[in-house]
Amino acid sequence: MRKKNYFAGPSVLPMEVLQEMRDQLVDYEGNGISMLETSHRGGMFEKMYDDCLSTFRELIHIPEDYDVYFLGGGATLQFAMIPFNFLLPGTKAAYCKTGTWANKACNDAQKIGDVAVIFDDKENNYTHLPDVDKLVIPENCSYLYLCANETIGGIEYKKFPKRDKTPIIADMSSDFMSRPVDVSNFDMIYGGVQKNLGPAGATFIIMKKSMLDRRNKNLVAYLDYALHAKEKGLYNTPPVAAIWGVKLMFDWIKKMGGVEAMDKRAELKSSMIYNIIDSSDFWRSPVDPAVRSRMNIVFRLPSEELEAKFVEESKKEGMLGLKGHRSVGGLRASLYNACPVEDVEALAAFMKEFERKNG
Ligand SMILES: *Cc1c(COP(=O)(O)O)cnc(C)c1O
Repeated sequence: MRKKNYFAGPSVLPMEVLQEMRDQLVDYEGNGISMLETSHRGGMFEKMYDDCLSTFRELIHIPEDYDVYFLGGGATLQFAMIPFNFLLPGTKAAYCKTGTWANKACNDAQKIGDVAVIFDDKENNYTHLPDVDKLVIPENCSYLYLCANETIGGIEYKKFPKRDKTPIIADMSSDFMSRPVDVSNFDMIYGGVQKNLGPAGATFIIMKKSMLDRRNKNLVAYLDYALHAKEKGLYNTPPVAAIWGVKLMFDWIKKMGGVEAMDKRAELKSSMIYNIIDSSDFWRSPVDPAVRSRMNIVFRLPSEELEAKFVEESKKEGMLGLKGHRSVGGLRASLYNACPVEDVEALAAFMKEFERKNG
C-alpha cells in the first residue's frame, strides 16, 4: 500500500507522474531508448526540455525578458553563486534573516562580500517575517535577498517587497507554484525542485536578462550565469532525470488547472490542519499566525513525549514525515502541491482522534 507522504523534501509526487516515468522509463515514447540513456543535445531530450521550459513560462507567466533554465548543485549552490555574480566590490547586498535557509544564504554571502542584514528575527527564534513596507535598503545595494517560505520554520511571506531600484532575489524552493507570483517584481527567482516541483537533482533559475549586465565578468565557467543563460542551461550536462520529472509535474499542474488551482488547493489543505491547531490548547503553532506557511505546517503538542507518540502512531497509520526538523523539534506536515487532498483529510482525522485519546 502507498504511504501518505508529508516529508519536507524530497517529497510526494503525483501518482500520474510516477506512473508515467515508470511506463516510459525503458522505451521513451517508442524511440527505443530511455530518456536516461540519451544525449542532452538535440533529439528527444531537447524536445522534452523545450516543452518543459515553455510550460514553465506559461504556468507562472514568465515575461520574455527573463531567462529560465535548470542547474545542478541544489538551491545551496545558489547561496554562493548569487553573491559571486552580483555582490560586487563597493556595493552591499541586503539580507533578511528569517530562518535556516535565508540565514545559510546570508552566511555564504558574508564570505564573499559586504552584507547588510536588514532584518534578523533571532530573538524570536525565527518565527516572524519583516513588514516589507518598512525594510530599509542601504545605499549602493546590489540586491535584496529573501527566502519566500522557510521550510523548517514554517513561515511564508504573504506579501513581497515592491521592487524599486534595487533588484530582488528570492529563494522559492518550497512554495513555488503553490500561488501566483508576479515574476516581474523579481530579478531572480530560484529554487530546488525537490519540494514542490519534482524529483531531487535540479534547481530552477528565472532571471531577468538585464541582471547579467551587472554581474562579475571574471568568474569560472560554471559559476557564471551568463554562460548558462546563453545555453538555456545546457552549457554542461543538465540533471536529465530530474528535469524529466519536473516536466511531467508541470504537465500535471497544468492539467489540474494551473497555479491558480494549486493556490486554492493549498488554501483548502492548510486550513484543514490550521483549523484543528486553532481549535484547542492541545495544539500550538509556534509562529506568527499572520505569516504561517501553507506548505510546511509546524506545530507542537503539550510535551515532547506526546510528540514522539504522535510520530510513532502516525507511522502505524502509514503516515510518514511528520517529525519536525531536528533543529527545531516538534511536528511538521509538509502539504506540497502533489499532496492529495484525501491525505490531508486523513491527517486531520488522525489529529482529531489523537487529541480525543490524549487531550
Ligand atoms: C531545501 C531548501 C534549500 C536547499 O535545497 P538543496 O537543493 O538541498 O540545496 C534551500 N532553500 C529552501 C527554502 C529549501 O527548502
